[in-house]
Formats: sequence, C-alpha cells, structure tokens
Amino acid sequence: MEAIEILNQHKLRVTNTRLLVLNFLMAQQKAFSHADLEIQFSKQINRVSIYRVLYTFLACKILCKFVDSNARVLYVFSAQSQHQDEHPHFKCNQCDQVIHLPQLPQDYIALLKEHQVEQLHLLVEGVCKDCLGEEKMK
Ligand SMILES: [Zn+2]
Ligand SMILES: [Zn+2]
Repeated sequence: MEAIEILNQHKLRVTNTRLLVLNFLMAQQKAFSHADLEIQFSKQINRVSIYRVLYTFLACKILCKFVDSNARVLYVFSAQSQHQDEHPHFKCNQCDQVIHLPQLPQDYIALLKEHQVEQLHLLVEGVCKDCLGEEKMK
C-alpha cells in the first residue's frame, strides 16, 4: 500500500509533511526517535510539525512506539491492522530491524485490564534470524 492510500484509509488530510514522514518510515523496517527524524527532515520540516505528525500517526496506529534499553523512545511503521492491540516488539542489535510480534494472549490482556495500564513497553532485543543466518555463512 502507498503512503497516500494509508492516509486516505485513516481519513487523514494528505499533506506534504505527512507524506514525507510516512514514506520514509514505510521504506524501512527500522525504528527512529524524534531526534532521528528531526535530523532526517531538518531542511523540510520543523520539530513541532514532526511531533504533530508522530502524534497523529500513533493515534491512528500507523506507527508503534516503544522504548529501547538506552531509554530512547522509538517509532516504527506498522502495516498490519491486526496489530491494533498491544503487542511486543523485537529489535535486532545488529541490523536494527524491528519486528512486530503477535499480540499478547487474551488471558494476559484480561489480567492487565483489571488495572489502569498507562504505558506498556514490551521489547525483546537480540540478534534477528537474518543476522544469525549471515553469521553461519561466514
Ligand atoms: Zn538483524
Ligand atoms: Zn508494533
């Protein structure tokens, strides 16, 4: 799917800023911090606009947000609509690719719903199977 279709699907007005950021994030399986995006778009978009775009995309669940072990808040594109519910992520320490893992089991979510969950950041870090494969080839 193209960036413009995704914006339409979520009834978001198509703006240059939204297209730029979405195209950039869609093109890679990596996660970026607000600061990364500020640097990436320093010539085209101001920091407040980047913040607004991220906020809008997060609300529409076009992006997932998580915190890594360096306490960096990272954003990654999420294409799958089945990932509407809370799910953990896997981040490769070698190639930086991020994989959206399946959502948490229902009984787990039911337990969480007994409480007021304010932040849920579940991240698995390690070496992805692609990088493991490359190591074996060496
Ligand atoms: Zn990897
Ligand atoms: Zn995700």
